[in-house]
Amino acid sequence: MNTVYNFSAGPAVLPKSVLEKAQSELVNYENSGMSVMELSHRSSLFETIIQGAETLLRELMNIPDNYKVLFLQGGASLQFTMVPLNLAQNRKALYINTGSWSKKAISEAKKLGNIEVEVIASSEDKNFSYIPEVRKEDIPQDAAYLHITTNNTIEGTTFYELPDAGNVPIIADMSSNILSVDYNVADFGLIYAGAQKNIGPAGLTVVIIKDELIGQVDVLSSMLDYSVHAKNGSMYNTPPTYGVYMAKLVFEWIKEHGGVQKMEELNKAKAAMLYNEIDHSTLFSSPVTPKDRSINNIPFVTGSDELDKKFNQEAVKEGFENIKGHRSVGGMRASLYNAFPKEGVEALIQFMKKFEAENGG
Ligand code: PLP
Repeated sequence: MNTVYNFSAGPAVLPKSVLEKAQSELVNYENSGMSVMELSHRSSLFETIIQGAETLLRELMNIPDNYKVLFLQGGASLQFTMVPLNLAQNRKALYINTGSWSKKAISEAKKLGNIEVEVIASSEDKNFSYIPEVRKEDIPQDAAYLHITTNNTIEGTTFYELPDAGNVPIIADMSSNILSVDYNVADFGLIYAGAQKNIGPAGLTVVIIKDELIGQVDVLSSMLDYSVHAKNGSMYNTPPTYGVYMAKLVFEWIKEHGGVQKMEELNKAKAAMLYNEIDHSTLFSSPVTPKDRSINNIPFVTGSDELDKKFNQEAVKEGFENIKGHRSVGGMRASLYNAFPKEGVEALIQFMKKFEAENGG
């Protein structure tokens, strides 16, 4: 088989060595005669897995002791509801609108009816091509929280500096740059992320929440209540056991490869190579303001829908999978998460040069 490079925005590429380890343990985990998929979530073998995953994540992200780590289901999308339901009933919730996923978070919060949703800044005026500035004076200090999307997977922008929110806790959808950009957890009240980019298979959602934000109000459904999940150590119901196991293997891999700071350094280097090519090209361009450019999701365009289409068709033939831009923005998008190899970026750059030469750039 020819080499395939998977540029998918999620579910995304996983480290090969992690997949191979999972394969070697698939049928008989630690001589138990059972697969991890077959283990009771109450068994000591699984207890060790979930506790190991939590310990590693705490170590990798330097999570303070006064935060809980929850392994949940429902994707990042369910957090669009759980966050306001648990933290902002009958209160004001602030949002910065930086793209499609922020918009969804905003619209889900509005659906709850008893939350005063206020969008304090937006970059929609310029197709979400930048991160808007927010001044502390613009942040009402009586708000329950300020929600941001740290990395905008579709539009390719990132918050490298957090807004100064004063006493208002910052809630972050970190789905597409958790463990890839080295944030300080103590700067946030709550962080959530769907697993399927930098953590593991889809089906697992990680929530990191400050103790003081848990259990503030009654939540009608136990499954939507952080305090229920926290009290039960993520075992109120059956957790996504195989996803947690895979996450643990990925956390081990990140640790072995130097931790989150190292991941950020390597991701920056991969992204810089591609941005350099785009910026020096006469055919390709980036729609994003340079200082806000994501190192994880890199959209680029030729300026012609026809040429974009041709590029995407030829790219697939060369083994570049999932490089077509999101259906809402078109063009191309290279998603370069932790496990994406540098050689894949080099190969893409060679292909871009060839395409540019052949198509009159
Ligand atoms: N938020 C961001 C930033 C995303 O990139 C995605 C999905 O890719 C989501 C939310 C939705 O996540 P899920 O599909 O896990 O609900």
